[in-house]
Amino acid sequence: MNLVVIGGGVTALAAAHRATELARERRVDLDVRVVEARDRLGGTIATERTDGFLIEAGPDSFLSEKPWALDLSRRLGLESRLVRTDDRFRKVFVWFRGRLHPLPDGFQLLAPTRLAPFAGSSLFSWRGKVRMALDLMLPRGGGALGDDESLGAFVRRRLGREALERVAQPLVAGIYTADPEELSVAATVPRFVEVERRHRSVILGLRRGLAQAPLPGTSGARWSLFVTFADGMQTLVTTLADRLPDSAIVLGQRVSAVERDGGRWRVTSSEGARFEADRVIVAAEAHVAARLLRYVDPALATLLGDIEYAGAATVSLGFRRADVPHPLDGFGFVVPRSEGKAVLAATFSSVKYPGRAPAGHVLIRCFLGGALNAEILREDDASLIGRARAELGDALGITAEPVLVRASRWPASMPQYRVGHLARIDAIEHRARALPGLHLAGAAYRGVGIADCVRAGEAAAEAAFV
Ligand SMILES: Cc1cc2nc3c(=O)[nH]c(=O)nc-3n(C[C@H](O)[C@H](O)[C@H](O)COP(=O)(O)OP(=O)(O)OC[C@H]3O[C@@H](n4cnc5c(N)ncnc54)[C@H](O)[C@@H]3O)c2cc1C
Repeated sequence: MNLVVIGGGVTALAAAHRATELARERRVDLDVRVVEARDRLGGTIATERTDGFLIEAGPDSFLSEKPWALDLSRRLGLESRLVRTDDRFRKVFVWFRGRLHPLPDGFQLLAPTRLAPFAGSSLFSWRGKVRMALDLMLPRGGGALGDDESLGAFVRRRLGREALERVAQPLVAGIYTADPEELSVAATVPRFVEVERRHRSVILGLRRGLAQAPLPGTSGARWSLFVTFADGMQTLVTTLADRLPDSAIVLGQRVSAVERDGGRWRVTSSEGARFEADRVIVAAEAHVAARLLRYVDPALATLLGDIEYAGAATVSLGFRRADVPHPLDGFGFVVPRSEGKAVLAATFSSVKYPGRAPAGHVLIRCFLGGALNAEILREDDASLIGRARAELGDALGITAEPVLVRASRWPASMPQYRVGHLARIDAIEHRARALPGLHLAGAAYRGVGIADCVRAGEAAAEAAFV
């Protein structure tokens, strides 16, 4: 079987790797090519080691709650290289009105589950707290079963405006770098939709759920909620690539056309490479898939092109520990949109994970951009770094010069799961099924995280072997 995988991010590599596993199991003669436009693998995953700092330009961890990346790491023999978060510092702060307020203990992404820390929290006003508690009494709401609504509408309806503006927007919409008024609640936090459907009250439902099944990472689970590799996320990329046959990786070839050729497929690149394939997995971004498939199925291409993307940037700053007055007793902070800051969130990387900074130093990483602040990516690196430094100065009291600075840009890299996303993906999958031998996978469809991408890539490889 000739298999061409378009893209060289984690989705593509997981797909190619799963294909080689299946070929071995089923004794199929497989010729696999992973065709990547850039001269490096990994897509948004990029780790750098400099002067004792370990800097993640893109993702810094993956969720262990979703099992697929963890399972793959085990199959690759990487379990001993995984590291967990230092859960002594699990606290997350919200930078609100000039102060870092700890998110109250027991706050589950959108809603409180423990009364005392919530009641005593400085993050919410008394009116805001009473409004959140109203969730205990409110009837079920929303539209008809199966209808989607925005994260903004859902949280406002159940828990009120403060819960939305001070927590849901910076925490949930922050992960998706999205506008909460556009973000699909069904596609991003389906658990909360299900909790309302089953229990009516989100707070009561979460409390009952916790009593039955404690969250992973909170009660003696082997892994913390987020895990990474001692040598950074690039470990996953290089190990996957190493397990593929030597001929599999084709770098520096930007695929420009995918065409049907009888029962087979022809894939060509702008640089002139040409591949004949029985199966093709398109694991590049949806806007790329849309362009590549516009003559194969224009309606499918339109649906793919409708998935919008936002850009993001990260600025990593290394400081001498003595130059940071704040105790850094948490994983970092998020910033509500209403604060009008450039930084969406900051991670205290060297507190959260071991081995990120040399002795006596700390590494802090700021996240900027997203759908609500797209224009900031037009600024040059010096300006992004200047903003990150100034805002870290305000939040943490740092005035000293950093000893290390890195800025990385990821334009059009974050798919936006807008209201109706799941229906759009159903339609995309329906049309794609009518194209035998062609499969789509990646962050644009059914989950944006690394774990989701591993699952999507592996599922595409399995479908290619049916
Ligand atoms: C700054 C940032 C931080 C993140 N943090 C986290 C995190 O901590 N945890 C987490 O789970 N997720 C995180 N994510 C999300 C996660 O990184 C991505 O969803 C995931 O890596 C996407 O993988 P992918 O392979 O689907 O796509 P990508 O990594 O985008 O890879 C797509 C690849 O296709 C290539 N390509 C594009 N066009 C062509 C073409 N015509 N021909 C050939 N190749 C082409 C691209 O060059 C690229 O290498 C983060 C994302 C960003 C941007």
